[in-house]
Amino acid sequence: MRVTGRPIRFLAGVAAAFTVVIGAPAAFGVGSPSQLPVAAPGVPPADAGVAPAPVASAPVATTPPAAAAPGTTGSLAPGAGGADVKALQRKLRVRGIRVPVDGSYGRQTRAGVRILQRKLRLPVTGIADATLLSKLGLKIRAVASAPVATPAAPAAAQYLKAFPVTGTYSFANDYGAARSQGSHQGNDIMSPRGTPVVAVADGTIKRLTRVETGLGGVWIYLVDAAGNEYYYAHLNDIVAGLDAGSKVTAGQQIGTVGNTGDARWGAPHLHFEVHPGGGGAINPYADLVALDPNRGKN
Ligand SMILES: [Zn+2]
Repeated sequence: MRVTGRPIRFLAGVAAAFTVVIGAPAAFGVGSPSQLPVAAPGVPPADAGVAPAPVASAPVATTPPAAAAPGTTGSLAPGAGGADVKALQRKLRVRGIRVPVDGSYGRQTRAGVRILQRKLRLPVTGIADATLLSKLGLKIRAVASAPVATPAAPAAAQYLKAFPVTGTYSFANDYGAARSQGSHQGNDIMSPRGTPVVAVADGTIKRLTRVETGLGGVWIYLVDAAGNEYYYAHLNDIVAGLDAGSKVTAGQQIGTVGNTGDARWGAPHLHFEVHPGGGGAINPYADLVALDPNRGKN
């Protein structure tokens, strides 16, 4: 039973959804896009009927900053500019070498550096290299010759291991959008009827129905080893042989896209929800984008 430790999920730019589900709690086996999984007895009301507002927090940086590590120095060369160059020019002037303090590493600064290098019996290059800068007590953060920072790696999916449909599809960040049944608790992945729907994680089918039930119509709840739940609604059908308790692996087909339930008058699509730890829904968009096989191809 989940009680504590609901994962904190950052939802940059997404309005926190705070949905009160109106009416009696869903009976076991009745899933709908706007209703949460049935809460176990003893779970506080917040789990039973109210989707908690996602807690916004800054994403954890996974790549080190491009700046040089503390205590290291780079070098300044003609053509450089900015505060580091100004600091160098001030140091030169303190040593009686007349250069403009204009933050621009031009001819005069180069000449001044050469004078200082000669004084200090360093190779006379006109470039304020690490040796010279450290003798001057300067530490610069921007290294002129530093390699271009590698682009940040694409964000990894936090929950999903596989994209939920294979084939033709499109989706948008429609979590929290106003719908007749309340705030939209997932993302709609528009896709032709019959498109394969797959397990997004290794896990177990928690519940399913092949008979249209509730707003979700034909739907599946999948739970992974960590207790995260995934809700697939409006399915056309479910793969034969699957039932509650069936083990599935990420990428394994579990059904097909349809428009059952309250989608019956609309275009076929997969309504997809993610419930960390089996609690309130979070916006699956970032995970979908991270796993989107077509990302960058459009
Ligand atoms: Zn939907």
